[in-house]
This record gives sequence, structure tokens and C-alpha cells, in this order.
Amino acid sequence: MTSRITHPDGYVFAKRHCLSISDFNRVEIDTLLELGLHYCAPQAQRCDHLKGALLVNLFFENSTRTQNSFEVAAKRLGADVVNMAVGSSSVAKGETLLDTAATLNAMRPDVLVVRHNASGAPALLSQKVSCSVINAGDGVHEHPTQAFLDALTLKRTLGDISGLRIAICGDILHSRVARSNIILMGLLGAEVRLIGPPTLLPADADRWGAEVFHDMSEGLRGCDVVMMLRLQLERMQGALVPSKREYFHFYGLDRAKLDLASPGALVMHPGPMNRGVEISSDVADDPDISLITKQVETGVAMRMAIIDALYAARQNGEAAHV
Ligand code: ASP
Repeated sequence: MTSRITHPDGYVFAKRHCLSISDFNRVEIDTLLELGLHYCAPQAQRCDHLKGALLVNLFFENSTRTQNSFEVAAKRLGADVVNMAVGSSSVAKGETLLDTAATLNAMRPDVLVVRHNASGAPALLSQKVSCSVINAGDGVHEHPTQAFLDALTLKRTLGDISGLRIAICGDILHSRVARSNIILMGLLGAEVRLIGPPTLLPADADRWGAEVFHDMSEGLRGCDVVMMLRLQLERMQGALVPSKREYFHFYGLDRAKLDLASPGALVMHPGPMNRGVEISSDVADDPDISLITKQVETGVAMRMAIIDALYAARQNGEAAHV
């Protein structure tokens, strides 16, 4: 088991949780991406590395692709999966997050995948349970597995991320995907640009190590990758954009705006998409330029890698303590 998570330099992956991109160093990131690449091969996706293990999905916020992706990934590794129906569970009856954690912990899962609307909730849980915890999106904070799968999608498609100019566009203020990607793509040597209206950019965005633009035609110039973000209306208090129509006019990605980027620029979106709001169908559905379906496909492989690496690290850690 160790060999799958051993970096060529001999480093053995030892992280037990996946909570934030900033918890990982470059060697750990490369190790996870290499393992993700391994799991992209269909024959590698049938294995029993987690046979007898239990993964629990604990989603306090709605999710289609992320929850399903974790379920498929865990099952392809041979694990058992329980999807906690939070809406009909004791949580709906007022149980606290920590009581829920204690109850789940008593069932001795190996991996807990948590999505919560409060930033920091998965990190808090990780201190209270004995299993590995994966952050599947916490408030506006981070969505580390999405950034890993985005990086793996680019690595599969273009080979190298270093030197790419990547534009992250739209509702950056509410986007945990943006936060995780800014850190990860920057660590991998890409130049990251943020493009959005002032109302949808955090006041301190210029301190995140990315250049900030309010005008798509300026920001997209010379970009190799254009990552569009969903307008997260459910997180907005009050109207931060005049109207969806006007938003599309200025910030929605269509052919004309994409033509301002580098020739052959590729398009990404973490989903779910608001067609005609942040992206036109014409662009989203063009297989020559859109990586959106490939992101979903790659997500399973990347999550297999993360689950596998955390699980093996925990097993190794326990073995070291007997
Ligand atoms: N699915 C991503 C997330 O959970 C992006 C989005 O919802 O817009 O953050």
C-alpha cells in the first residue's frame, strides 16, 4: 500500500485529513496528483484498497456532483458508503454538529466527507473524530478536492500547469472554489488573475497573490484557461448585481469574450452552471474548448486518490503505534 503513496523522492504521504489546500506542501500535492493520474485509467478504477472500510457522506448543504463523486470514488476503491440524510436526521431535530460527530464517530467510519455552510466546520469536526475528514466545501472558505480535480484536469490536458495564465471569473466573493484554486494553482506555478465586478470581489482580493481586474476584455487577454464561477445567489444578502441579463452582458463568457483570451484557451466551470448567466451554452458545450465534462470525470479519479492516500496514511500511522 505504501508504494502507491510514495513520492519518487522517497517521501511517504502522511496527512490524515484534507481540510484546506494550504495544509499541503508541494511534495504532498504532487504525490496526490500523481496518484490521481494513476486512477484516471479505467483499469485502475476497479480495486479493493479500501475493502471493509466505511466512508460517510455528511452533507449539510445541497450537492449533486460532489456527493455522487465521493460515493462513486469510494465504491470503486471497494469501500462501503453511507449517505447521511441530514434533512431527515437528528440534525433537523436540533442536534449540534459536535453531537452528530460523536454519534457518527461511534460507528467507527474510516473517512468522513463533510460539506457545511459554516467555514471551518470540517476542521472542527476533524478534532472530534478519530477518522479522516475531507472538506467537501465549507461556507465561502475552501473546496480543496475541487481545486485538486481542476489541477488534475489541466495536468491531464496540458501536461504542465506551471507558466499557465489562468483567469478565475465571476462571483469570487462567495466562492470556496476560487479560494482553493488561487492557492493551488499559484503553488503549481500558474499566474492567476481574478476578474469580476467590484461587488463580487473581496475587498482584500489584491492581497491574495493574484492580479485583480473588473473588465473581462482586459483580464482575459493572454489567458490560457478561463475558469467561470457560478453566481451564488443563495449566499447573497441583497442584490450585488443589477440583473442577470446585465451580468451576462458584462461578465458572462460567450464566444466574443473568449476570443479575447489566448488562441485555443480552455474553459472550466465547477458546476452547477447557470447557463446564460455566467456562461453561454455555446461555449460550455463545445468539446474542443470546454473541460467541464472532463472535470466531472477527473473528479472521481482525484477523489479516489485523496481517499486512498488519507486512508493509507492513517493505516500506516496506526501500524507505527502498535
Ligand atoms: N459546486 C461548487 C461548490 O460547492 C461550486 C458552486 O456551487 O457554485 O462550491
